[in-house]
Amino acid sequence: LHSKEEIEEGEGVRVYIRVRPATEREVSVASPKAVTVEGSSVLLKSDPPRSFTFDGVLGESATQQEVFETVGRSVGSSCLAGYNGSVYVYGQTGAGKTHTMCGPVGSVQSMQFDERRGIICRMLDYVFSEIARRGKEENGTEHSCRCSFLEIYKEQITDLLEPQNTNLQVREDLQRGVYVERLSELACGNLTEAFQALWRGLQQRQVGSTHMNEQSSRSHAVFTLYVEAARSRAGVTSTRAASLNLVDLAGSERQQHAGDPRAQTYESLRVKEAAAVNKSLMALTNVIMSLSREERSKRRRRGSNYVHYRDSKLTFLLRDSLGGNSKTVVVANVSPAQICCAETVSTLKFAARAK
Ligand code: ADP
Ligand code: MG
Repeated sequence: LHSKEEIEEGEGVRVYIRVRPATEREVSVASPKAVTVEGSSVLLKSDPPRSFTFDGVLGESATQQEVFETVGRSVGSSCLAGYNGSVYVYGQTGAGKTHTMCGPVGSVQSMQFDERRGIICRMLDYVFSEIARRGKEENGTEHSCRCSFLEIYKEQITDLLEPQNTNLQVREDLQRGVYVERLSELACGNLTEAFQALWRGLQQRQVGSTHMNEQSSRSHAVFTLYVEAARSRAGVTSTRAASLNLVDLAGSERQQHAGDPRAQTYESLRVKEAAAVNKSLMALTNVIMSLSREERSKRRRRGSNYVHYRDSKLTFLLRDSLGGNSKTVVVANVSPAQICCAETVSTLKFAARAK
């Protein structure tokens, strides 16, 4: 059980930036553009100006289809080959994370046909069509899929498919590895069933909370697809299984406490602020940075290989799909506007350290 806590060889994390178009509000306040895309680099008109290079940059005109082709498809095909994978969308609230991951899906129908649908819908579409295609080619291979959908808010896990199940715990045992106790897993026999499960969870995410904006910007949503392939050859059945995590992260901005009457004294303000830093997000960024190519070679020289997966709910439950042979992709979302420049700098700095 210790092996996974050590950093294994792998290809590290692929990091992409997505710059969204200016919103109406940014246009109406006439905020100048601070971000320019040049190939795989982002130039930022900050003071001083900065330039960052990534595995790729998706500019304002990139379509949802192009985003999926660039960041999603290869993770999906690795999953079908038996490798765990995950795609994370990172960035400040309003930068386009949910648009990139889900898109403005208004119905199960739109998950199938809307051009604005995001990575999750396209991934499900891709995986199920590949399964159908392979089923015809590879005689004797049977695929089965399950999915789960959970939310982490203030380090509490809620099942978005069975929302009465709250405060779920992450466990580990020799047979199952890491798992979330009592989390429901829905068998999906076809694409429509998968879309229905996704739809149910997304609805729940919207209606479930009384502080909708606060909760959706501070919570992580994790949609997981489990794919199992059983192959029979000469009377012997072998199976391979992999999971694919699609994660809409909490906003990366520093949490604000202005106007909170309890935060009156300096001391209580500091305590509250420390407590309010999103533990799961911080732990995940630490893990992701420790998986970066540069960081790994430094650690190897120092002889320290320990990664703190158990520091948060998110990193613990995703442990088996971080590092090793897993495919990990981060899409860091930024606004093009000058008014967001400070947050954009911090997003780009994290993203640059992650690759
Ligand atoms: P986040 O989830 O990071 O808080 P959203 O995805 O909700 O941000 O995006 C904020 C707003 O910007 C939404 O109205 C969304 O539709 C819009 N938006 C984000 N990215 C794009 C894009 N690439 N193209 C068009 N609109 C976008
Ligand atoms: Mg969002």
